[in-house]
Amino acid sequence: MSIKSKLLWSYIFLIIFSTVLLGSILGSKSQTALSKEIGAKTEQISTLILDIVSVRNDLLFDKVSTDLKYASEILESYGDYRVDYNQKITVKENQLPNLYAGEESLINIDEYIKKIEDVTGAVCSIFVLDSNKLIRVSTNIKNNGDYALGTCLDSSSEIYNRITNKLSYYGKTPIEDSWYISGYIPLFDENNNVIGALGVGHEQLNDYLEEVINKIQIGNTGYVYILNSAGDVIFHPKIKGKNLISYDFAQDIIQRKTGSIEYEFQSFWKMAKFTYFKEWDWYIISTANYDDIHSSSKTIIYTTISIGIFVLFVGIMIALFLSNTIVKPIMDLKSCMEKVSEGNLDIQSKVESTDEVGVLSRSFNTLVKENKKLLEETREYNILKVEFFSNVSHELKTPLNIIFTTTQLLEYKFNSDEELNPQKINSYHNTIKQNCYRLLKLVNNLIDITKIDSGYFELNLLNVNIVEIVEDITLSTVNYVNSKSRNIIFDTNTEEKIMAVDPEMMERIMLNLISNAIKFTKPNDTITVTLTDLGHVVKISIKDTGIGIAPEKQSVIFKRFRQVDRLLNRNHEGSGIGLSLVNSLVAMHEGYISVNSELGKGSEFIVTIPTSLVPKPNDNSIVDDTISHEDKVEKIHIEFSDIYS
Ligand code: ADP
Repeated sequence: MSIKSKLLWSYIFLIIFSTVLLGSILGSKSQTALSKEIGAKTEQISTLILDIVSVRNDLLFDKVSTDLKYASEILESYGDYRVDYNQKITVKENQLPNLYAGEESLINIDEYIKKIEDVTGAVCSIFVLDSNKLIRVSTNIKNNGDYALGTCLDSSSEIYNRITNKLSYYGKTPIEDSWYISGYIPLFDENNNVIGALGVGHEQLNDYLEEVINKIQIGNTGYVYILNSAGDVIFHPKIKGKNLISYDFAQDIIQRKTGSIEYEFQSFWKMAKFTYFKEWDWYIISTANYDDIHSSSKTIIYTTISIGIFVLFVGIMIALFLSNTIVKPIMDLKSCMEKVSEGNLDIQSKVESTDEVGVLSRSFNTLVKENKKLLEETREYNILKVEFFSNVSHELKTPLNIIFTTTQLLEYKFNSDEELNPQKINSYHNTIKQNCYRLLKLVNNLIDITKIDSGYFELNLLNVNIVEIVEDITLSTVNYVNSKSRNIIFDTNTEEKIMAVDPEMMERIMLNLISNAIKFTKPNDTITVTLTDLGHVVKISIKDTGIGIAPEKQSVIFKRFRQVDRLLNRNHEGSGIGLSLVNSLVAMHEGYISVNSELGKGSEFIVTIPTSLVPKPNDNSIVDDTISHEDKVEKIHIEFSDIYS
């Protein structure tokens, strides 16, 4: 899986995980809190309704008693009550004797009923006792649009029994379809016989109370409803008048009277708190739909999911941004690395940011550059090695050829009758000797280089006068230099400087540098050797007025096998190891060599050696540092053997 996909999926997973976790925690917490709140609210509401109903009950009883008193006083003001059995009045299907108060017939006495209704707001009825029934003859109670005249209370009714027993009655009464808090008093004739009854009442559940209960809302869809113990729905926002006794939950409520319940009704899961008002036989039930509770937690979950989707979108944008700013540079770098590993060292990463990837990219570029340089150097080194071997072979072959040809010539001369003069023999001899020196120089250099490389070369350091050594070796070359039509001058700022050097190696260094100066100068040029004592170091300069060295070549000439001119187009003999050997020998003296040169004007090689001393050797190990004149001439011959011009 790529880093980009990893980053993207991590973000998606993180956001979805945290959204789901947050949503479910918030949802369940809010659900619990809401169901608690709704539970508490339903309980409060049912208790509140109970209180209202209870107060109303007390008030209604008071009012019924007052209203009944008022109604009877008004009625009594007409005169004494009496029944005229001779008159037959038709009230609905009943033929009834006429009932009087004074001269006023109480059958269909609208004016009186209306007055009572106007003053008290109560329902009011006058009953005639006939055929063991109390028959309603005047009333403002309506039944299907008509006044409910002719309806009766028979001996099965408690009201009837109390009235016929000359007692008043107060209580709740079903009148037509409604329940009333009502009061009844008997009407007596002059003989104190019960001849009728007067009743007033107020509806238990009037429009105002209905409106109040109807307004109650629990959650979004919760409400209050009222049952009686027969399962009749006394009040309900929708199904008032129905009977629910067949439902288990209704039976449970009726049985338990007070408590809480969860049930399913009309495909809704509900929770309810209920309480019982005994006086009216009312079960006041406040109920809430579970959907309300769920819907609010659903709202929270939906909101969280919406926020989650938004955050997811933003997260993906950020992940894409990050992958473009982090992963893309990594991918670019990766593709560069692949190309490099395939061998293309010309590739450079283009990532230039200042972050870690940028640092990596720059390090990578440096590494590639270094590798390229190393590769090029190795290639060049290999070419140089090949050149060196052909060079050395050439260097070996040239003097050998000359020696061989000269000996052949000598042999021919000896065998022929031709007379050999001593001058010629001397010339042949010199040629053979010169080329032997040349071979010797080459072999010596090769041996020394090999020794230095393998760490076997050791300096024989002696405390000697460096001025004397440099001056002697310079002066010993004067004859030779002059014979090559060059001039050589020695100069110094001191006559004596004792310091630790290997005299033999100093001579090798000097002869090599002077030999080069002769090789790369023209006749009449001047070579100047200058020794300068600077106290802590001594500088030896070998300056010539020769061909000079191009600036770009100056740093390479001290490296092994390097020559300014390649084998095939060079003007001078040499193996390209002279300066490398000098460099190593100077370094072994803890010094260094440098060059100042200008093409066409000349070169100056400066050897700088620190002026240290070595402890004096024991007497028996004293080395003789005096070198004989013959030795010097011999060495000059060897070191200068590759100078021909
Ligand atoms: P070689 O045996 O070829 O002389 P060196 O190591 O002594 O090898 O010199 C390396 C190269 O440095 C020479 O081939 C020459 O091109 C250049 N060089 C050395 N000394 C001088 C000088 N005095 N003037 C100009 N070029 C020089």
